[in-house]
Amino acid sequence: MVGLGTMGSGIAEILARSGRSVVVVEANDNALARGLAALHASLDKAVARGRLTHADKAQIIARIRAADGLAAGAAGADLVIEAVAENMELKRAVFGELDLACRPDTILATNTSSLSVTALAAGTRHPDRVAGLHFFNPAPVMKLVEVVSTVLSPPGTAETLAGLVRALGKTPIQVGDRAGFVVNPLLLAYLNHAVRLLDVGYATSGDIDKAATSGVGLPMGPLALLDLIGLDTSLSILEALQAELGGSRFTPAPLLRRLAEAGLTGRKAGRGFYEYQRQSVHAARADDTVHHMASQPPSTVVLIEDGAAPLAADLTSTITEAGIGVARPPAAEADLILVAATPARRVLDAALACQSPGDAVGIHLVGPHAARPALAELVITHLTKASAVDAAAALAAKIGLESVTTPDRPGFLAAAMIYPHLNDAATMVQDGYASAADIDTAMMLGCGYPRGPLEMLDDIGPAVVLGVLSAMHASSGDPAFVPAPLLAEHAAAGTRFRC
Ligand code: NAD
Repeated sequence: MVGLGTMGSGIAEILARSGRSVVVVEANDNALARGLAALHASLDKAVARGRLTHADKAQIIARIRAADGLAAGAAGADLVIEAVAENMELKRAVFGELDLACRPDTILATNTSSLSVTALAAGTRHPDRVAGLHFFNPAPVMKLVEVVSTVLSPPGTAETLAGLVRALGKTPIQVGDRAGFVVNPLLLAYLNHAVRLLDVGYATSGDIDKAATSGVGLPMGPLALLDLIGLDTSLSILEALQAELGGSRFTPAPLLRRLAEAGLTGRKAGRGFYEYQRQSVHAARADDTVHHMASQPPSTVVLIEDGAAPLAADLTSTITEAGIGVARPPAAEADLILVAATPARRVLDAALACQSPGDAVGIHLVGPHAARPALAELVITHLTKASAVDAAAALAAKIGLESVTTPDRPGFLAAAMIYPHLNDAATMVQDGYASAADIDTAMMLGCGYPRGPLEMLDDIGPAVVLGVLSAMHASSGDPAFVPAPLLAEHAAAGTRFRC
């Protein structure tokens, strides 16, 4: 194991826990001591939780030996895993030395997140034995490992490494050498898009994250996740993806770059999109600290169907169950006008058709389970008065839903944020880089998604996603939202990505 930092110490731990002898190599004594201390601390935690005994821990530690230098450490190894910092020059130097020190049949694997495995291989005398073995952070916990072959790899290498991954109790997916492999291009494009939505004032940071968690069912909001990964790290990965794959989805959002430049790199700096003070988390931007005035829920509302009759019927029963009267237009007296909204249709048209457009708010209920919405998207037009937004937010709270405010643009907030991500996954299937099943496995095991993006897309319906993306593209002109041809084909045929 070369490099015993964040990733290397975790990888060394799982190898030793599986009964393998591990030789660790670090740049200097201090780094070695730090890496071994992290490894001990992780094992101590497992002991404290009752997952290991003290005797198990002692046996695991006994399998780990520190070597005096790279050549001495690597000489007898069957497999070398490199996890030094994400720097091509540094990795090239390490692989050059390994090439001379190892047996010709030793497999040399890199844990790189975004650099070219092929370029590393090509710099060695035996390029066919160089592969990628991309673990996720924290390595002892995350179940996914991307096994990367290059055009120079013989067929057996990936299979050997996949066998090892399975023996470590993890799930391999085998992929070719393309920047970021499966997970990082999908994840980082989506996170970057969320920063753009914040940057242009589309929604507040709290609402963006709430739409992803309550509205889509993801374990974390995109901005909180960026703070966790580190804004500097995320910026470097985006730049590497942009350099190789091009396209506007990887062009770093200006706000991401500015925050990283300012040293506001997220949790590790105490501030990124949020401020982290001991136990509490606050929004770091002033616009997020402006809360809606606590408002009484209205006693009656006028509900406009706007072509969404079943939706309006559901809303009517939910609102009346909460003790709020619902009238249909053209009722004159009401505290609030609600428009039953759908993401492919503009609320403004319905608002203009009523007597006081400033009192009209669109309402769109979303959630990971269609039958049980968890979040109300409150759609505000440029005419909507603040008092109407407050009243709609109070109504949402009264009917037991969280709420976010969103502009009257195609997709509103949750779909505008997540459908381009689903489209990216569809494009990856279309390009033949990975199967729909592998992509779903990768996002579930690598990012903790409860469902993979293609299963999500199938559940929403390819035709629905296609309609919203087409409307997003038509209204913004951004080529990033052009629907994948394969998505359009599934929509036309009524077929699914996952069989
Ligand atoms: P890190 O900075 O925590 O650790 C790198 C370690 O390599 C340091 O301890 C450093 O002293 C050591 N090192 C540097 N030069 C060395 C040399 N010549 N010989 C031996 N050791 C040397 O980095 P990290 O976050 O563990 O990342 C390592 C690799 O894993 C990178 O390629 C990164 O892209 C990839 N990766 C990181 C994550 C993550 O979330 N951190 C996730 C997946 C993959």
